[in-house]
This record gives sequence, structure tokens and C-alpha cells, in this order.
Amino acid sequence: MTMPDRGGTFDSFECAIHALAPRCAHCDCRIVGHGVEHAGRYYCCAHCAGHAGVQGIRDRA
Ligand SMILES: [Zn+2]
Repeated sequence: MTMPDRGGTFDSFECAIHALAPRCAHCDCRIVGHGVEHAGRYYCCAHCAGHAGVQGIRDRA
């Protein structure tokens, strides 16, 4: 990654994260940092996974 004033690809580090981060399959928020994954779908937290019908999953602290 290079700095914006050097013709970098991303406007900011935050944009880079958002471009790469998966989205929660339940609430559609960006997952930055730890999340939970089940059957190829990503959730921002175990709470969302549970709402989406996933059982037996826990937050990875
Ligand atoms: Zn969520």
C-alpha cells in the first residue's frame, strides 16, 4: 500500500479495509477485525449469526 499523495491505490487505510472486509450476512455491516464465519457466510458477531439461524456459534474474542 502506498500513500495517496504518491498515487496510491486506496484513499485511506480505512477505505482499504472496507474494500477488503466481508459484510455481515445478517445486518450487512462491514466486518472489520474478528467476525464469525459459518458455511461460507460471514457475520459481524455471534448475535447476528444466531439471528440468521446459525446455532452453536460463539464470538471469537
Ligand atoms: Zn451483523
